[in-house]
Amino acid sequence: MSSDCIFCKIVAGSIPAKRVYEDELCLCFADLNPQAPTHLLVIPKVHIASLAEAEPAQSSLLGHLLTKSAEIARAAGLDGGYRVILNTGPDGGQTVDHLHLHLLGGRHMTWPPG
Ligand code: AMP
Ligand code: ZN
Repeated sequence: MSSDCIFCKIVAGSIPAKRVYEDELCLCFADLNPQAPTHLLVIPKVHIASLAEAEPAQSSLLGHLLTKSAEIARAAGLDGGYRVILNTGPDGGQTVDHLHLHLLGGRHMTWPPG
């Protein structure tokens, strides 16, 4: 828990969020500013600032976030596909310094991203 981290506060329940899924390791909630009909964030409950700060010992946690994202996408009915994004650092477009996967779906995604 990082006391000044907005996503740690969501995990703790001191900031509200539309929670979609939760287990002992991760939390999934709706993005406040959705960029697609479905736009969810999947985060570890433990504070990891970004992918660049993740330790090799956290590999299975990172894998858990990915496989849960696929389960959540299935449960959300994203049968036509979806996109999982992990913005990292300033050049990666990361604005919240708590590692999070964006799960976007419900429309056709273009490539390359902006
Ligand atoms: P990124 O730019 O990859 O760091 O993504 C941060 C995301 O967090 C953005 O899509 C924001 O809309 C979202 N966000 C910021 N604050 C909140 C919040 N309190 N609840 C839900 N989503 C948030
Ligand atoms: Zn945090």
